[in-house]
Amino acid sequence: MKENHFLCPTCRGQLIPNNKIVLSAQKENGEKGLILIDPTLGEYSAITHKNFNLSDGEHLKVFCPICHADLSEKSNPEDLAKVVMINGEEEETTIIFSIIVGKKCTYKVYGNRIEIFGSDADMHINFWGEEANY
Ligand SMILES: [Zn+2]
Repeated sequence: MKENHFLCPTCRGQLIPNNKIVLSAQKENGEKGLILIDPTLGEYSAITHKNFNLSDGEHLKVFCPICHADLSEKSNPEDLAKVVMINGEEEETTIIFSIIVGKKCTYKVYGNRIEIFGSDADMHINFWGEEANY
């Protein structure tokens, strides 16, 4: 299987040193920590240190661990963040994902096409005024 690469949209640094996406996260109470995310689209297992507990419904801010750029999606910075994905065919897409803990939604944006992953994914579709392409 060809692997996908995930890059910071600002510095284009590699966000997967091994097999998880690494992001720097900040909770509503200001606590900061690293979060490891499964790079499989539609998988939502996230690993954090035991002292950096995430509760469902909590809004996070996420930052590039390399250049510290805020990864919030401009159109909806409270709920969504984005990274760049380069697939095995060297195609570049934007991956937009929920930064609300426990909300399962991910969008793969390729030109004007959107592919949707996750059980909570339709919550933002109207906001974008876009329909899904299957
Ligand atoms: Zn960066």
